[in-house]
Amino acid sequence: MSSDQSATRRRLERMDDLVSLCARRGFIFPSSEIYGGINGFWDYGPLGAELKQNLKNLWWQRVVRERPDVEGIDSAIIAHPRTWEASGHVEHFSDPMVDCRACKKRFRADQLEDAPPCSAREGTSEHDFTEPRSFNLMLQTRIGASEDAASTAYLRAETCQPIFNDFKRVREAARQKIPFGIAQIGKAFRNEINPRNFTFRSREFEQAEMEFFVHPSEREQWFAHWQAERLAFHRELGFDDEHLRTRPHAEDELAHYARAAVDVEYLFPFGWQEIEGVHDRGDWDLSRHGEYSGKDLGITDPDTKEHYVPMVIETSVGVDRTVLALLCDAYTEEDLGDGDTRLVMRFPVALAPVQVAVLPLSKKLAEPAHVLERELRRRFNVFYDDAGNIGRRYRRQDEAGTPFCVTLDFDTAEDGKVTLRDRDSMRQERIALEGVSARLAERLAA
Ligand code: ATP
Repeated sequence: MSSDQSATRRRLERMDDLVSLCARRGFIFPSSEIYGGINGFWDYGPLGAELKQNLKNLWWQRVVRERPDVEGIDSAIIAHPRTWEASGHVEHFSDPMVDCRACKKRFRADQLEDAPPCSAREGTSEHDFTEPRSFNLMLQTRIGASEDAASTAYLRAETCQPIFNDFKRVREAARQKIPFGIAQIGKAFRNEINPRNFTFRSREFEQAEMEFFVHPSEREQWFAHWQAERLAFHRELGFDDEHLRTRPHAEDELAHYARAAVDVEYLFPFGWQEIEGVHDRGDWDLSRHGEYSGKDLGITDPDTKEHYVPMVIETSVGVDRTVLALLCDAYTEEDLGDGDTRLVMRFPVALAPVQVAVLPLSKKLAEPAHVLERELRRRFNVFYDDAGNIGRRYRRQDEAGTPFCVTLDFDTAEDGKVTLRDRDSMRQERIALEGVSARLAERLAA
């Protein structure tokens, strides 16, 4: 039966179902699991690491390689501590926090509606909260052998600040003219008060950020341009209009650096939430770093000789949050009728962690199957499995989100054909063994 025609489908409703699939199949699981985990930190297993890598590659392709006006960098995670004074993070990057005097738990003061009841008070489950205090979210570390204040450094709270530090060097080295952008993908760290919703709010996470430097007269036009570009990217990930929207920030929501901001939001099972921010940061960052470093980060227009500090349009997407959105979006329970059900991860073909599984019907067919496997491994990410019932092997690949399975059987030696099975439609078709690689390349390019 073809699932496209007859299955009843159910999307992800409870995060617990996804969390358990992710652990069982090795997409994502708690970091340091053997020690009971560490709150706000996650590890990506074999399938998760591939999915995340494919997403990062697609972003780099669209934002850096396809654009002559964007350069990529890879900066250190630890920057000179003055960076974070100039950026305003030491002073402003904090959330309001309250403590419960009874149960000693700590909560974000602006998210109390989600707090679990107090377990320590008699006769009431209400917390006994302190007044809100400001809690800085930057993670600190120490550098070198001395323990004095001068050795304190911060793990970067966002990947963009090193981009501003490197602005002058990169512009000159790459011989770029305004308008142009600098992009990077990398880890960021925030000591979130309440990490939650699986990987959605973590303490260590990855960002893919692009800072685009423009003349002050062109900021609105570039702000609109990048909003459209980034929305198109999320549509390419397969998110439909029912699950994707943009939301402009109200005046009182804007971060300390922002003149205007639009969030790209995805509808998770726990509600609409931000996965990306597009921000007009004005000249805040370059002016402040100019002031704190004593270096002139302004530009002199070669034609008009005007000297000015460029304005910055930023696109900042959370890699982990987007992976989470991809997982939620892909998760499908299908009722195939007659009591038969399957769980299938319908990832876009180009992002699937494994692209093709080679599944000989019997271990006796291992030799020709390995020949095919080796050939395919040069171009695709391949999984090989020759053990167990073929129906069960297909279902395991459905759970991994593998778009294609190739099965060799006892006729293959005679007629030179294999069975190509499609994940979504479950259709099976016999095709020539030697045409498999070209056929897969064609499907992937589509
Ligand atoms: P939030 O309001 O949800 O805390 P934010 O507005 O502080 O997010 P930004 O500073 O704009 O987030 O960061 C840009 C992107 O980085 C976010 O859209 C999100 O995808 C990602 N991000 C930020 N904080 C976290 C976190 N704690 N865990 C995972 N991803 C995060």
